[in-house]
Amino acid sequence: MAKRVLVTGGAGFVGAHLCRRLVERGDRVTCLDNLSSGSAANVAPLKTSNRFDLVRSDVRAAFDFDVDEIYNLASPASPPRYQADPVGTMMTNVTGALHVLELAERRGAKVLQASTSEVYGDPKIHPQPESYWGNVNPTGVRACYDEGKRAAEALFCDFQRSRGVRIRLARIFNTYGPGMDIDDGRVVSNFIVQALRGDSLTIHGDGSQTRSFCYRDDLVTGLIALMDADDEVGFPVNLGNPVEFTMVELARMVIELTGSVSRLEHRPLPSDDPALRCPDITLARSLLGWEPKLDLRAGLRLTIADFSARLGLAADLAHR
Ligand code: NAD
Ligand code: UDP
Repeated sequence: MAKRVLVTGGAGFVGAHLCRRLVERGDRVTCLDNLSSGSAANVAPLKTSNRFDLVRSDVRAAFDFDVDEIYNLASPASPPRYQADPVGTMMTNVTGALHVLELAERRGAKVLQASTSEVYGDPKIHPQPESYWGNVNPTGVRACYDEGKRAAEALFCDFQRSRGVRIRLARIFNTYGPGMDIDDGRVVSNFIVQALRGDSLTIHGDGSQTRSFCYRDDLVTGLIALMDADDEVGFPVNLGNPVEFTMVELARMVIELTGSVSRLEHRPLPSDDPALRCPDITLARSLLGWEPKLDLRAGLRLTIADFSARLGLAADLAHR
């Protein structure tokens, strides 16, 4: 029988692709989203399927669905967006986690939390294994997101220990790809939009800080593999691409691949911006047999093609 799956935040960048993959494999999917950073357009192609429903609602209010599995992705993810409403971000992560866990307990469902590499803060151990407890500023401007996600992980583990709920914790590292919102504000989408428009690429600080970028489809494969894994995997698992780049290297690659005339423009480094970030994915490799397939250059080509089409620049690019 088809599985009944709830995806909170399913109309966002990662969630929409996850919903598509689940519907394609035959699951019945309900997407619950308040459409704050996601949009109905992201899941519009799925509405023709009788195995897909979009429910416009907020995870901060309790909900009930007859489900076998829950993916909890509801949360703003880009720093400008999660800092625009910090109280809302914290409450989305904490009460959203509580509500999916209560639902999982009531229905005997399995529940996966979209956690984040941000739980490691500005890391003192590099690359980051799951055993590292992190270095987060609990009172800084990123705390609404970092501490919200850390509190959610704690709630998940307590529901597992004290109430027997079957949990999965995916610590997701920076993910990019087609379908990111043009105004999202994260570095990959900013650089691509700036390069395609011929504007300067805004480098925060000296651009020596690093990130490790995972292509959307690779991440979604990892999320599904983690959900499908046996119940022994009730602890955090890093999902990310372990190849690390500085922001200047990323900017130069985007300029090269777009054939842009843009220059680099340095801006102040935001407070608490992590200096380094790279996943140790030994656990995901051994437990799930998962690792990313697409390298940054190949993933950026696909992402740039998607952005240029959405910006109406396909013809210009063809002439470059
Ligand atoms: P996104 O902003 O595109 O998607 C988030 C979705 O959640 C949106 O559709 C938004 O409308 C919805 N949402 C936000 N608050 C809500 C609320 N209170 N109630 C209901 N829906 C709500 O971001 P994304 O990149 O797709 O991220 C998805 C999840 O993965 C997030 O939980 C994020 O923290 C996590 N994550 C993403 C990355 C990444 O690099 N993309 C990295 C680490 C973790
Ligand atoms: N960044 C940048 N220019 C931008 C947007 C972001 O240099 O226009 C930097 C940001 O300060 C950080 C890195 O790129 O050092 C990754 O930022 P992003 O917001 O994508 O993700 P996060 O900081 O949450 O990893």
